[in-house]
Amino acid sequence: MGCGASKAAVANDPLLLDGKGSGQKSGNGPSSNVFGLLSLTRGLTADGAITVGGSENSAGGMYGFDGKFGLAGGENGASGTGGAGVGKFGVGGGGKNGSSSIQPINSESSVKVVTVVRPLMDHEKGCEDIVKILPPGKIELPKKQNGSGTEDKYPFEFDRVVRVTSPEVSKELYAALVLPVVERFCQGFNATVLAYGQTGSGKTYTMGTSCNSKDVLAPDPTGVVPRSLKVLFSYIQIASQTYDIILKAQYVEIYNENVLDLLSTETSGKNGTSKLDIRERPDGDVYVEGACEINVKSREEVARILDQGNTKRSTAAHKMNSESSRSHAIVTLTMEQRAKISSAQKIPADLRFLLSKLNLVDLAGSERVKDTGASGDRFSEGVSINKGLMELGNVINALTEGKKRSHVPYRNSKLTRLLQDSLGGNSETLFVACVSPADKNHEQTLNTLRYASRARAIRNNLRLNNKLSPEEELEYLRTLVQQLQSENDQLKTRLAKTGL
Ligand code: ADP
Ligand code: MG
Repeated sequence: MGCGASKAAVANDPLLLDGKGSGQKSGNGPSSNVFGLLSLTRGLTADGAITVGGSENSAGGMYGFDGKFGLAGGENGASGTGGAGVGKFGVGGGGKNGSSSIQPINSESSVKVVTVVRPLMDHEKGCEDIVKILPPGKIELPKKQNGSGTEDKYPFEFDRVVRVTSPEVSKELYAALVLPVVERFCQGFNATVLAYGQTGSGKTYTMGTSCNSKDVLAPDPTGVVPRSLKVLFSYIQIASQTYDIILKAQYVEIYNENVLDLLSTETSGKNGTSKLDIRERPDGDVYVEGACEINVKSREEVARILDQGNTKRSTAAHKMNSESSRSHAIVTLTMEQRAKISSAQKIPADLRFLLSKLNLVDLAGSERVKDTGASGDRFSEGVSINKGLMELGNVINALTEGKKRSHVPYRNSKLTRLLQDSLGGNSETLFVACVSPADKNHEQTLNTLRYASRARAIRNNLRLNNKLSPEEELEYLRTLVQQLQSENDQLKTRLAKTGL
């Protein structure tokens, strides 16, 4: 196991003891060139604590950022024996006899899907809980009673199915499934967590998108966003010894096929938010043009920004006579890591510059417009709001049809365009399907599970984002050579003084 703290958290984690691993499947992980960073991120825990080193097979003490870049294997990773370490997290590689040649990283990674079943709520009093969970990852819904009175069932299988009945379970869920995604982000890969489900199924609760400063800064925050921030800033604290790190936050909402910047201070736009376009860079990166990207140096700063964004979100929603459940909210963190010149010699050239993006997405309610009883303007609004989800379904279909990918209709909606990398592209992606256990939601729950099981068949192509522009690379190498030159001169002077 990578490290002591992580091992302890994992060993006691019932979610991890029941089969399918949470991270990469065996042998699927990236090869040896990320093990330096992996040895650090192995130490991340859901608490945001980092322990580098400490256990028998620890990555940190023996192989951490001490220039040796050894192995940070998973459960079965063979420390120091070379070859790839695979196991529960299926990561790592190298070690004492590991390959010293740096291979470009390119690995296939399937979209992981977890179904989260929330408890019955007060307004569902009298409803029957119809969800049956069969560990490790199976869930069954009964078929609706048919004419002859016999009952059959709809079975589904996911990477995990969890009843989130307490903050503890929520924390375990995070450690088992979300943490590996955040680790990928720290390692220089793009990553996405997105929550899908009908309104009221627990998407916002799970993602923690509407968290306020208090939630973000709580010692034990709940929700994917606040927890991830805690983990990230712990990582940054340690990794800053080796890298200069810039973290930027962006918060946008897609409503009625318009992209609105929730961090913009501009109030002139319609509804007090500026509408933005989506563009693609020459390297294929899709981004929101002109969206505020704010440099953030602490959790406090991000908390302030999220507060600001959420206030704007609810104000805009009020003006538009809509509810936040009818828009998609996307928090995007971008992290640039550039090896300090003083550490550059200890770091393989492929790991000296890393640029990664983490999308945390709280989708609009997936119920069909006709089920909401909307009419007139509201109906047409609903149609274009659901256009994103409908096109998301079409993208998932196109990606999983089995035949060679022909056309994937990413451009048909703002949502699919923005999530182009997350589904079928360059991203480690976790799809969280949120469902209510109540019998009255049978049809919507069934729709969600069907949608989610299609998403599970998507294969992404993960690629380490480690390329500087030729000009930047040249500048970096020039500074490095200068430093080596000056070290060399100092050594020569010292040798001359000793008279050798
Ligand atoms: P959605 O964003 O999908 O519309 P919410 O996240 O707002 O749904 O959840 C609806 C209600 O259910 C909220 O009051 C929320 O606090 C509650 N809820 C959701 N998931 C859980 C859970 N796992 N445990 C307790 N309450 C939950
Ligand atoms: Mg919500």
